[in-house]
Amino acid sequence: MSEVVDVLVVGAGMSGLIAARALMPTCSVVVVDKGRGLGGRLATRRIGDAVFDHGAQFFTADGPAFAALVASWVSSGVAEPWFDQLPESNTAPTPVRDQPGGRVRYRGVPAMTTLAKALADGLDARRATTVTSVSVVDGQWQARLASGAAIRAGALVLSSPVPQSLALLDAGAVALAKADRSALERVAYDPCLAVLAPLDGPSGLADPGAKRFDGTTLAWLADNQLKGISPVPAVTLHGSPEFSRVHWDEPDAVIVDALLGVAGLASAAVAGETQVMRWRYAKPSVIHDRPVLLAADLPPLVFAGDGFGGPRVEGAALSGWAAAAALVAPTD
Ligand SMILES: Cc1cc2nc3c(=O)[nH]c(=O)nc-3n(C[C@H](O)[C@H](O)[C@H](O)COP(=O)(O)OP(=O)(O)OC[C@H]3O[C@@H](n4cnc5c(N)ncnc54)[C@H](O)[C@@H]3O)c2cc1C
Repeated sequence: MSEVVDVLVVGAGMSGLIAARALMPTCSVVVVDKGRGLGGRLATRRIGDAVFDHGAQFFTADGPAFAALVASWVSSGVAEPWFDQLPESNTAPTPVRDQPGGRVRYRGVPAMTTLAKALADGLDARRATTVTSVSVVDGQWQARLASGAAIRAGALVLSSPVPQSLALLDAGAVALAKADRSALERVAYDPCLAVLAPLDGPSGLADPGAKRFDGTTLAWLADNQLKGISPVPAVTLHGSPEFSRVHWDEPDAVIVDALLGVAGLASAAVAGETQVMRWRYAKPSVIHDRPVLLAADLPPLVFAGDGFGGPRVEGAALSGWAAAAALVAPTD
């Protein structure tokens, strides 16, 4: 016998968790994620004593709905302002206390995954649970899990990056309406090669510990100790989309040397193990023109995520709310 729920949400990133929270008061919801932790691209990792935010580095709150959520996080200690001004190319950002009127960049406290933990509180959110296919059985959705188990649901939210969502439907032989399929295939993402390097001394970055680069190799450098999440020196480096595409299959050591070199950090400054994270779907470069896509001619199926709401944490959140609204009162 399969487990049966009202709504199954695939993906416990910002969009999936927000959708599940919005639906939870009115129906039974299960969220599943293949990751070892919750949060998707809100990702924090430890190497020895060093702690790294290695996906999203900060978030902004431009609209009232997300601003209200962020305000609640700040008052409960889950998030705090990090800095005010967008870092200019090759210059350090301004610490928040020096620019009280700027656009605030927030960080999770102690780190970015804390946001996911806060959102998952009270939810049935299951980590290390990979969906291998979704199909329609007797008018309901059925998700097959890598464990061999299955979950049936009246409605399905696919909040994974769109190519991954399409692969799940293809594996279950689900035929999307032609217009939906071509709209979904237009959504595109840039990759990002991220290097996590513990250092044996200070990075040399100024407070608050971040620098944006506008070259074709390195896009971003952050000092996780100055940011306040790592007790020891530890930097996160993000390759540019161009660099990440070209060097995707290179050995880790080549990627580490190239990014450390452009950052002006000698590999001799590295203390211990470095790691390379490969974000194949880091940020959408082409987004859908609506905050979700409600599939036609199928049991309720909503596609959500930053590929719909916009290429930022706030965009993913807006898409999550829109996904819940589309299931409660479909308009598309
Ligand atoms: C390197 C990097 C830097 C970034 N920097 C910023 C920044 O500074 N500011 C900002 O606002 N945004 C930033 N972003 C973008 C931001 O992280 C995303 O917009 C947002 O987190 C996306 O949330 P989501 O819910 O749409 O997707 P995700 O967080 O990707 O969630 C989708 C989830 O689906 C799960 N999943 C996929 N397939 C399956 C399956 N078969 N079974 C089960 N689960 C599955 C995944 O494990 C994942 O957890 C950055 C992203 C990256 C990668």
